Amino acid sequence: MNKIGIAIHGGAGTILKSTMTHEKELIYKNALDAALMEGWNLLKGNASSLDAVELAVRLLENNSLFNAGKGSVFTNESKHEMDASIMDGATLNAGCVSSVRNIKNPVVLSRKIMDNSEFVFLSGEGAEEFGRIMNIEFENDEYFFDELRYNQYLNALEEDSVQLDHSPGNKKFGTVGAVALDNAGNLAAATSTGGMTNKKYGRIGDSPIIGSGTYANNKTCAVSSTGHGEYYIRAVAAYDVSALMEYKNLSLEEACEEVVNKKLVSIKGEGGMIAIDKNCNISMPFNSEGMYRACISSERNLEIKIYRE
Ligand code: ASP
Repeated sequence: MNKIGIAIHGGAGTILKSTMTHEKELIYKNALDAALMEGWNLLKGNASSLDAVELAVRLLENNSLFNAGKGSVFTNESKHEMDASIMDGATLNAGCVSSVRNIKNPVVLSRKIMDNSEFVFLSGEGAEEFGRIMNIEFENDEYFFDELRYNQYLNALEEDSVQLDHSPGNKKFGTVGAVALDNAGNLAAATSTGGMTNKKYGRIGDSPIIGSGTYANNKTCAVSSTGHGEYYIRAVAAYDVSALMEYKNLSLEEACEEVVNKKLVSIKGEGGMIAIDKNCNISMPFNSEGMYRACISSERNLEIKIYRE
């Protein structure tokens, strides 16, 4: 067996220990643990990193704790518009969706686009139409309804503000993502989000954008970002980590530090990322108060963390 590993995140932001109860902390940690372990078991059974990241993200999308799939935030029109992407580090193939409604698992649709279409990025109704052809699961609006999210939306409407899931005052956090290295030495990454509360004009964040929210390349690493999407797009954050490794020979740790704690900080881009490299090193940096994160590998014991520690 070669080195294998997986890391996941459930969003970064103003996650303060002072506003968290022990019970809530446990609920989040259990959710992360369950998704991580399912992905890990696949990897141990010799499955591909693509299958492992898709499964871990799908499980997180099914949990209303996180701002993705079922738990997606409300748009200005009181809808849920989701973005997701997946990338295969072996082939540099990718699949992305943006602004899709009523799709149970946007990450599954992204994978279908990658595997079964001649395109990389589909959006809105066209993506949904492709989903129907692929027999993707749809859910009605009630499935995506969550009282806490709805109250966040009402607040944002009243203040006429667009709120990042990380904004102080917002009680839930949670774009989700996963990165993995499999037994064949292949890297993969996937990310999924509901975006920003009260978003309008078809706003799209970094999560479905290859190079910003998601990137994987067998030569270097696999990355999934979470944070203020506008800055991650401008910083080309995920690809930058890979480029620093490929062209400047930085280690994974150094490259992540450069992007998250220098480049993004210099433009006031709040957030974090998870990354794994071809040698199974894992890095999970963030410049915010906290980030829901977990990892396990053949080289490293299980870790599930929320705050800085
Ligand atoms: N990056 C996501 C976006 O801007 C949000 C997040 O990570 O929470 O849409």
